[in-house]
Amino acid sequence: MTEQEYLCPHCDQKMRKWQAPEESNWGGEIKYVCFNDECGYYVRGWAWMDEKYGQKSSYRHSINPETGAVGPLPVATPDHMKPGIID
Ligand SMILES: [Zn+2]
Repeated sequence: MTEQEYLCPHCDQKMRKWQAPEESNWGGEIKYVCFNDECGYYVRGWAWMDEKYGQKSSYRHSINPETGAVGPLPVATPDHMKPGIID
């Protein structure tokens, strides 16, 4: 029994199994998230959010393994959301 691995399409690093905080919009949902701090998607996100919204935040690439839906996971700091890693 091996769990499927997910590679981030932006940096080719293995994505981490992650559980959304109960109080978040995703209410405990399991996702796979790229927590690579060098990931181009995440690195560019800081500049993009700053330019577009004047916000000091970014987002990480994530996928819902049940639905296959991909989307950005917003983060306010590099360590934001890391406590949810469960792999
Ligand atoms: Zn990545």
